[in-house]
Amino acid sequence: MTAVLLDGKQLAARIRNDIKQKITHLVPTPHLAVILVGNDDASKIYVHNKLKAAAETGIKTTLYTFDGNVSETELCELISKLNLNSDINGIMMQLPLPKHLNELKLLNLINPEKDVDGFHPINIGKLQNGTPGAVIAATPKGILRLLEETHIDFAGKHAVIIGRSQIVGKPAAMLLLNKDCTVTICHSLTQNLSEIVKSADILVTACGCPQLVKANWVKNGACVVDVGINRIDGKLCGDVDFIPVAEKVAFITPVPGGVGPMTIAMLLENTYEAYLKQTKS
Ligand code: NAD
Repeated sequence: MTAVLLDGKQLAARIRNDIKQKITHLVPTPHLAVILVGNDDASKIYVHNKLKAAAETGIKTTLYTFDGNVSETELCELISKLNLNSDINGIMMQLPLPKHLNELKLLNLINPEKDVDGFHPINIGKLQNGTPGAVIAATPKGILRLLEETHIDFAGKHAVIIGRSQIVGKPAAMLLLNKDCTVTICHSLTQNLSEIVKSADILVTACGCPQLVKANWVKNGACVVDVGINRIDGKLCGDVDFIPVAEKVAFITPVPGGVGPMTIAMLLENTYEAYLKQTKS
């Protein structure tokens, strides 16, 4: 492989260790409330990993679990209570929620200062207009950190994002636009996807299509961040056909070990930063 590996596991470990050093002397410690609804196996694993990482970093967590048939009113009451509780610095609700719950309504109820996932419209708006101090969603924030490791000069580079979700594609595009990239957002109805990808200096794939991006789609020397988490025959893989693509590009993230660990590290960083803002320490 000729590409340099953007090792998210290593970078995330450094960031977590840095947060750990900073919070050792803080009293009380930053406190994250985590809401888990239903029995989705993937959600349970993600929450388990977040709680474990928080504990290792010294961030206190409280987990609130609910049956899949919990009412919206009950969740609204919990969020309102957590918003008022000065002992809680961050609130994250694991998505997706069961269909009968209005995800947007519940996310919008979280106090923007405690919205460590960065999904509240106020934080999305701040990201869009470039207000300093916006809480940036963990996955796109992690994507940018990985790209910064390449020391690329972002200005004027063509960044192509495959995927336009609220939690990855759109905020990643906005972050790269704020870095002066020329940004193209692609999605499932985009025509000539491979042609667009061929002109990308920076490629971020977040579509959940196993090994969609082939070596003959990518530009020599591009930086590739693969957000996708897919399985082929039970084995994890991303949206990029890793081995042949890694022979052609300059930088690439692995799956697993790329964006995933960074997402968790950024959630912890957002919790620490929320604590600092709330306690003005
Ligand atoms: P999503 O389903 O909300 O959005 C997928 C996007 O991809 C949509 O905008 C859709 O139009 C686009 N898309 C689908 N098929 C396409 C195709 N053939 N060509 C072009 N675009 C296509 O998904 P999401 O929540 O944004 O997640 C995307 C992927 O990233 C998933 O695999 C998910 O598991 C992964 N993910 C990883 C992390 C992490 O921390 N590593 C975090 C979030 C999501």
